[in-house]
Amino acid sequence: MQYSFFFIIGTIFGSFLNVVIYRIPNKISIIKPRSHCPKCKEMIPFYRNIPILSFLLQKGRCNNCSIPISLIYPLTEFIIGFFFLIGLHYFQYMESISFIIVASLLYTISIIDYKYYIIPLELSFLTLIALLPNIIISTNPLFYIYGLLVGLGYLLFIYTITWAITKKEPLGLGDIQLIALLGLWLGPLKILITIFLSACIGIIYWIILYFISGYEKNRKLPFGTFLSLSAIIIYLTKLV
Ligand SMILES: [Zn+2]
Repeated sequence: MQYSFFFIIGTIFGSFLNVVIYRIPNKISIIKPRSHCPKCKEMIPFYRNIPILSFLLQKGRCNNCSIPISLIYPLTEFIIGFFFLIGLHYFQYMESISFIIVASLLYTISIIDYKYYIIPLELSFLTLIALLPNIIISTNPLFYIYGLLVGLGYLLFIYTITWAITKKEPLGLGDIQLIALLGLWLGPLKILITIFLSACIGIIYWIILYFISGYEKNRKLPFGTFLSLSAIIIYLTKLV
């Protein structure tokens, strides 16, 4: 009972994050105007804005103009609902709340970076605030500071090598901010594994794109997406 309640609250929060994902990169206010169809601009009344269910009932189309609605909307609602369940089941009190908010923000960052190749500063800042409780209640806050330093140190190393060989910047400022944050969240060992895992995902992604659309010299990769998703997985992984 408690679990279904948490899941539903999570999907409602996910529904709000859908708005954030769409509006922040397009520089539209998050509060006003109310939700509307991006095609026909028809306002979506609250009774037709029920997470996941509305999408299923309307068979994935706008009720007014029948334009297909992206599957990413109900998927986001489901995933955030799932984060709420994980938070409730695996963590306690402060860490539970902190995990739910940090994971939800990282998910939001991952979708925005995938779609627009940007990591909004306000989201990085909110993530920083949300992960602070973990450090404050910890008996060993230095552990997280080491994570930050290791993440940034590793980055500096990669940066120097790439710069020396290709004279190109391998990462944007947004990625660097994100790695610093993830170091603070994960600690020294997990941040290294996260960077490694996201590099592997990046290579696989590049190979898949290569087979689909051929070689492209300056292909952009949403590295922030790979980093954020890897970080959530690694955070939940118990290391021996
Ligand atoms: Zn419409």
